[in-house]
Amino acid sequence: EEVVKTIKLKKYYDMGTNVVKALDGVDLTIEKGEFAAIVVKSGSGKSTLLHMLGGLDTPTEGKVLVGGRDLSRMNREQLTIFRRRKVGFVFQSYNLVPDLNVYENITLPIELDGGHIDRGFMDTLMGALGLEEKREVLPNTLSGGQQQRVAIARALSTKPAIVLADEPTGNLDSQTSHDVLGLLKAAARQFHQTLVVITHDSDIAQLADRILRIEDGRIADRG
Ligand code: ADP
Ligand code: ADP
Repeated sequence: EEVVKTIKLKKYYDMGTNVVKALDGVDLTIEKGEFAAIVVKSGSGKSTLLHMLGGLDTPTEGKVLVGGRDLSRMNREQLTIFRRRKVGFVFQSYNLVPDLNVYENITLPIELDGGHIDRGFMDTLMGALGLEEKREVLPNTLSGGQQQRVAIARALSTKPAIVLADEPTGNLDSQTSHDVLGLLKAAARQFHQTLVVITHDSDIAQLADRILRIEDGRIADRG
């Protein structure tokens, strides 16, 4: 079952005197439950691809299908709902709310969406990320690796179909990166989520089931 599919995906930025072809015909498919790493050469469209897959911006040409639905056919409101319910985002910066404790940060997306908090699932999720003991503490008392584990738990809390991680270990040392990515992988597997990590760093892609490479806005190697 294909969860993410792009068809001749293009994103051009018209700069007046010239056109920057950030993505120039990307065809990729990611299967349900897969952990795919997309390695993008620096300056080759990493942010642009993340924005396309996450429904944060619209393609110049081509299609992005997520769960069989064509994002280019969704209006603004539908895209907002899609992002909230179907996608969990993880960024290099943790973006935790400093005044909320760990548990409140993790459940925030559910609160914002007016959803019901499944306490049993929250316990399982926090356990999967090794955060049981950290429930009541404020984010700034945690190490970088711990903060990213909180951000990951927050991304998974709404049980999204896909988890999109943009350079998720970019601020961590290599041992911590490996540990955090291992936990993210195990959690996504446990909760049957499709995990897509977009990175400039080939090293962190090694834990993935499949590595796709993008160079000059095109697929150079589909793993
Ligand atoms: P990466 O994240 O891999 O550095 P980006 O997707 O940010 O790549 O950018 C790819 C190319 O598109 C770069 O040449 C960049 O300058 C250009 N680009 C990205 N966003 C914009 C924008 N909003 N307007 C104009 N050019 C952009
Ligand atoms: P980092 O420092 O982790 O790379 P940035 O804040 O620079 O994170 O964001 C990376 C990309 O993701 C940017 O292009 C930004 O537009 C986008 N982004 C960051 N945070 C969010 C968010 N909460 N929702 C949507 N897009 C975001």
